[in-house]
Amino acid sequence: MNNKLIEVENLSVYYGQQQVLKEVSFVIEQGDYVGLVGANGSGKTTLVKSILGLVPISKGSITYHGSGGVHKGVGYLPQVAVTGNTLFPGEVHEIVAVGLLGKKRFPKRITSLDNQRIDIILKRLDIYHLKHKKIGDLSGGQQQRVLLARAMVSSPRLLILDEPTSALDPKVRTEFFSLIKKINQEEGTSIILVSHDLSSIKKCSSKIMLLDRELLYYGSTVDFNMNVNFVEGIHDHDHGRVVI
Ligand code: ADP
Repeated sequence: MNNKLIEVENLSVYYGQQQVLKEVSFVIEQGDYVGLVGANGSGKTTLVKSILGLVPISKGSITYHGSGGVHKGVGYLPQVAVTGNTLFPGEVHEIVAVGLLGKKRFPKRITSLDNQRIDIILKRLDIYHLKHKKIGDLSGGQQQRVLLARAMVSSPRLLILDEPTSALDPKVRTEFFSLIKKINQEEGTSIILVSHDLSSIKKCSSKIMLLDRELLYYGSTVDFNMNVNFVEGIHDHDHGRVVI
């Protein structure tokens, strides 16, 4: 198969003595929309950090197909962190430009071609009119789009979104999920959407990855829906037992 993007084989990660990921193996293909679900403490963030190259791998391997390395092919959207902070100084276009700087060699400068690319992505996400606003003055939903623009401006083949809607109200949340689906379908960008909200993620993802430190399920969302027993017995490792 030549549409593989990322291949994870027997991945294990420890924090000290504690094993947080156990022998996890899967393949992400071009165009996949994967909902990564699991209770608190199940290792979702650790798996994402492993793909981004931010934690040492104890055992196993991660192969990035068809790109020179992790930083060229993966965009990352963290949870909204600056909501309500009107003192945060960056203007929208400057925040988005950061998404290009990370990929440049020294000296790192924004060119006029970069500025064109920034304008295109701002228009694509319907936030061009906010270009010169300070990010701290924007609503949670608008900030989320700015961070999405920063993650997308370098045209990543895979976008990882970490609980992207947890700070948003239901209407903005639904709009955001539709936007991600559109990006996935129209541009073929692969998506990994991390969530503990299984019911919303099932509505938009094509695949479900269910993690409880080991991989309990990875396959089509349709098949997952026919095997509801998968959601029994999922543990919150940090706060006691829950079922998602
Ligand atoms: P999730 O994102 O599913 O909530 P995490 O990957 O954040 O899970 O955490 C998995 C486990 O690893 C948890 O028990 C958490 O407390 C622990 N953990 C996470 N980060 C660290 C760290 N930097 N050092 C030590 N333990 C950590």
